[in-house]
Amino acid sequence: MRLTLLGSGTSVPDPHRGSCGLLVQVGNSAWLIDGGSGTLQRCSAAGIDPRTLAGGIYSHHHPDHCADLVPLLFSMRVGPPPRRRDYPIWAGQGFADFFERLTAAWGKWITPGRGQIVIHELPLDGGATRDLDNLVLHTQPANHGASALHLRLEADGAAIVFSGDTGPSEALARLAHNVDLLVCECAAPDSDPIPGHLTPSDVAAIADAARPRELWLTHLYPGVDASAAIATVARTGVAVRRAADLDAWGSGP
Ligand SMILES: [Zn+2]
Ligand SMILES: [Zn+2]
Repeated sequence: MRLTLLGSGTSVPDPHRGSCGLLVQVGNSAWLIDGGSGTLQRCSAAGIDPRTLAGGIYSHHHPDHCADLVPLLFSMRVGPPPRRRDYPIWAGQGFADFFERLTAAWGKWITPGRGQIVIHELPLDGGATRDLDNLVLHTQPANHGASALHLRLEADGAAIVFSGDTGPSEALARLAHNVDLLVCECAAPDSDPIPGHLTPSDVAAIADAARPRELWLTHLYPGVDASAAIATVARTGVAVRRAADLDAWGSGP
């Protein structure tokens, strides 16, 4: 399993960091995890034509996590050649309603070529497990809005957890227990917390409880001092760093 961070930034425009997105590759299959603006270009830069993705997995449907869905589906429609197979999406309950409203606005322009969108909704009142071919997805509800989930991906004997956006969450600590890599949001400074998001001290508490082998900080809004955040989390003894766009982890194609 190989993970490439496509967007390590936030909703604030940044010349070096796009909105949230991750690419997970297992064998010849590639999945897009979230997909804020800029992730299509980053996906191409990572060597994957987004029109060939096996599917999409969304932590939630705030714009900084899914704004590239419309251009992604449009690219599948126009080709060349047009996509010939369905495009499956896994996301929390409420995503189908969200997508219905997108379809009301964009109509046929977001029908992916000759395939269909197939939305698999996941529960918001407890955990779930789905088998996606050679990738296993576990989810837990996150402490955030917009149908938010924590995502755990397992393949090739390795496990990765992505926090999505979340406030402090015991479910995240449990899901990330002893995981190989935890990609964790750190949107707000300790001095000015944002409801529904994590501060460096919150991330440290989760790291201390979960003991991931490695932790990448992402989604730092400009008010967060990255060096101080890394130092706060590093006090737990967990290996931590701030992720950058196109950082890659694991092995594979
Ligand atoms: Zn959000
Ligand atoms: Zn966000």
